[in-house]
Amino acid sequence: MPDVFADLVGQDEAVDTLRRAAAAAAAVLRAGAAERTPALIAAGPAEAAPAGVDPAAGMTHAWIFTGPPGSGRSVAARAFAAALQCVHGTGCGECPGCHTTMGGTHADVRLVVPEGLSIGVGEMRALVLRAASTPSGGRWQVVVIEDADRLTEAAGNALLKAIEEPPPRTVFLLCAPSTHPDDISVTIRSRCRVVPLRQPPAVAVAEVLVRRDGIAPDVAEWAAAAAQGHVGRARRLARDPEARKRREAVLAVPRRLTGVGAAFDAASALIEAAEAEAEASVAESDATERAALETALGAGGTGRGAAGALRGAAGQLKELEKRQKSRATRAQRDALDRALVDLAGFYRDALTMALRAPVAPVHTDTAALAAAGAQKWDAEGALRRLEAVLACRAAIEANVKPRIAVEAMMLALWKG
Ligand SMILES: [Zn+2]
Repeated sequence: MPDVFADLVGQDEAVDTLRRAAAAAAAVLRAGAAERTPALIAAGPAEAAPAGVDPAAGMTHAWIFTGPPGSGRSVAARAFAAALQCVHGTGCGECPGCHTTMGGTHADVRLVVPEGLSIGVGEMRALVLRAASTPSGGRWQVVVIEDADRLTEAAGNALLKAIEEPPPRTVFLLCAPSTHPDDISVTIRSRCRVVPLRQPPAVAVAEVLVRRDGIAPDVAEWAAAAAQGHVGRARRLARDPEARKRREAVLAVPRRLTGVGAAFDAASALIEAAEAEAEASVAESDATERAALETALGAGGTGRGAAGALRGAAGQLKELEKRQKSRATRAQRDALDRALVDLAGFYRDALTMALRAPVAPVHTDTAALAAAGAQKWDAEGALRRLEAVLACRAAIEANVKPRIAVEAMMLALWKG
């Protein structure tokens, strides 16, 4: 039976750190059971550690998991949360603590997955408050914050207060792309221990697709390379024909850029495809949420007081629509970003071919096209095009309107 860290592909060093920390945390609990309420080992070296616990292997109250998209930040955070709740203190994968944490039902593990573009202060305050309570399972209160880079400034401050004076049994696990001040405030960063994750190699991703998801080895290999180290994306490509079709449409872009008009057409097509993909991904949950809220509000009631209830209901429905709109925007940006990453892979292939670099192409199925591009553009032209794609991603990240950024990119790709 694989333990909770089994799905952390190609991250031996991080797994090692987390295993040692989980063991240290279990030792803290044992020491506490023998004596009084234990205090965690603080991040600073000046603090004394309880006897028998190696401070270097230390456990601490706040962690940041960093790494490129798909490297497994949230997978690592969840696995560590499970190891903290594991009755054996190892993350065995079999005990109730491991099971319920991995299944998302452990009473002392709270998972924050932002649905909009940012996590608000209200949500964070409520969370911090609940996290301060005594763990019902007798181990730790764990708060996992995915996409901690999407905290609003006020929410970040609320979190910082909790991290500065943490309740003795509370652990915060933050996930962010990096520890750059744009992602995580310097003050929060200074209170956390960082677990860096790397982009897993394609062979490791393929291996996990075969072992865990039962995907045929040749498909797994292709998908792992095409997904450029993004485990979730690789699984989708291997399994979902729609995802493969969308990828093919994106990779057809370089061929279609024959003039200014074609460049604008390609921009429209890319934006609309991202919108359609996002719409499909949120449509179901939107409808379910709306139906649930309407039922809760007693929609369709005709009795006395129904009119008054409906007036209050309008406000709640509006609030729900606002939340759903924010989630749709985020889904659109994510879909567009995936398309841009695919496109960047194509120009990277053209560049490495022009340089005759001995590396495997990202997209084996468009390798011939990339080779033709390499010949036509030379390394310099391929690099300029790759930079145009990366600049488009950066611009969208910096809140430039996606259509404008994509149009500028397409023109740059066409002109070279
Ligand atoms: Zn366990």
